[in-house]
Amino acid sequence: ELRGRAHWSSDSEDSDSSGSECLYRVVLLGDHGVGKSSLASIFAGVGEKDASDHLGEDTYERTLTVDGEETTLIVMDTWETEKQEEDEKWVQDYCMQVGNAYVIVYSITDRSSFESASELRIQLRRIRQAENIPIILVGNKSDLVRCREVAVEEGRACAVVFDCKFIETSASLHHNVHELFEGIVRQIRLRRDSKET
Ligand code: GDP
Ligand code: MG
Repeated sequence: ELRGRAHWSSDSEDSDSSGSECLYRVVLLGDHGVGKSSLASIFAGVGEKDASDHLGEDTYERTLTVDGEETTLIVMDTWETEKQEEDEKWVQDYCMQVGNAYVIVYSITDRSSFESASELRIQLRRIRQAENIPIILVGNKSDLVRCREVAVEEGRACAVVFDCKFIETSASLHHNVHELFEGIVRQIRLRRDSKET
């Protein structure tokens, strides 16, 4: 569903670009251990020479060229914190408020994480009721075929019910990860363009 190729470049590379108005916050949601930080670090280009700008802990900025147009995403991997539970609640409320787009991640090897994903989707809908924000449901760890607990069809069906996009990824194999972030950019643009007309 999320097709096409994009050119990835760092934000600092082309200082003459005028795409600064195209800046969007993408928040990663999901249970502990499903692969959020792994996906974020691939987005951030850890280990690549044109890596992203690291905006403090667990937040990464990178400009993607998708379909010939630049868009800057700020990816926030802040959903889980190491701190006290009260602090965590505050951070989670904040996460629910600030995203321009959401990636809800579960592991295909962990059914309870799939159920949590549904709960997160419901929570998000309640909090951001009037807004038509892009949401992508992600079934990660697709490489672990023998441990699969959630069928592709279940993920797809869930996305239909919850009116969001769906993709399976493998952070370990880097499979579909760039496609995921390109998909977010396209979803953001679809909504932006429909607002303009
Ligand atoms: P988080 O708690 O959601 O941030 O999850 P992490 O990114 O820390 O990943 C939790 C564990 O799952 C780590 O040991 C990762 O190496 C592993 N992991 C993450 N993504 C994948 C994947 O696509 N395939 C496999 N096999 N393991 C993964
Ligand atoms: Mg993490």
